[in-house]
Amino acid sequence: MRCLIFSDDADNLKEIISYFYKKMDIDVFCNSEVLDYGANNVYKYNDGFSDNISEYLIELYNKNKYDYIFISSTNLGRQIAGILSDKLNEKCMPEIFSFENDYKVVTKRFFYGGKSVLTEETDFKIFTVAPGIYEAKKVDKRSNLIDAKLKNSRYKILSKKKKNTGGNDITKAKVIVSIGRGLGSKENIEKVMPLVDALHGEIAGSRPVCLDYKWLSEDKQVGLSGKKVKPDFYIALGISGQIQHLAGIRNAKTIIAINKDKNAPIFEECDYGIVGDLFTVVPKLVDKLKNN
Ligand SMILES: Cc1cc2nc3c(=O)[nH]c(=O)nc-3n(C[C@H](O)[C@H](O)[C@H](O)COP(=O)(O)OP(=O)(O)OC[C@H]3O[C@@H](n4cnc5c(N)ncnc54)[C@H](O)[C@@H]3O)c2cc1C
Repeated sequence: MRCLIFSDDADNLKEIISYFYKKMDIDVFCNSEVLDYGANNVYKYNDGFSDNISEYLIELYNKNKYDYIFISSTNLGRQIAGILSDKLNEKCMPEIFSFENDYKVVTKRFFYGGKSVLTEETDFKIFTVAPGIYEAKKVDKRSNLIDAKLKNSRYKILSKKKKNTGGNDITKAKVIVSIGRGLGSKENIEKVMPLVDALHGEIAGSRPVCLDYKWLSEDKQVGLSGKKVKPDFYIALGISGQIQHLAGIRNAKTIIAINKDKNAPIFEECDYGIVGDLFTVVPKLVDKLKNN
């Protein structure tokens, strides 16, 4: 079996190659030099848009007769998956996190906002792959690096504006202290920062906190329409635990919730729960952490 992988995110690319290494022969098309993860050929482009990247991928696919195409589920990846599906007349399955090929292809993906897992038998050829599912592992094999020259694009960048981000990438954090509407106001963030600092963690938040009230920047939003995170510890402060929020923390190793409502849905999903007022509980936790 042979596959072609596309990603414009180096970390996600490493994870996907590692997942398929030894399951099939891998060629990669990307904008990074990911050469130690087990691919045979790495076709590297510099700058590209959805049109000229898709064109190159289609040429590779037709020339090398790959069995499958796997595309990382970034904004650009999802656009490209749609274009390839149309131009190659092949259906595309989105957001898979498992792919087995014993006689038949069986995939898994989250459904109902991450509340359930859908296992499907399929004859599709194109798949987008959910981020943060696999662990990237270097292997003792060096890929061939091939300089990919893209044709001219129909698009041209006229100007670039930097997005307002709030510091570190929460998808890489080992500890996340996440705040919800229960925090009450932006000013109250300083009351939970001692906990973030004591744990050497990152702060994140629910959608209302990041998108509606803008207490935190948008890149700190966790959930279905935000970031999918995978920390060792996820501490939810004043977050009710709606399904769309939980979709972002499925891969957290340990979830700890503090909520004053004992019936909050987060208590059905967390590993440890404290029913209480976060403004009382958080200072006590900080004291304990400092004195240990
Ligand atoms: C298409 C779609 C996509 C969405 N995507 C996302 C997403 O990516 N991420 C996301 O988070 N949401 C998302 N949502 C919104 C989601 O449905 C919820 O509305 C949201 O998660 C609720 O945020 P919250 O838990 O902060 O607020 P609330 O649901 O209002 O919960 C606040 C909690 O704080 C508790 N509380 C109040 N005061 C205190 C206190 N002093 N101490 C302790 N606890 C206290 C309350 O008991 C309550 O449980 C999406 C919705 C839709 C429709």
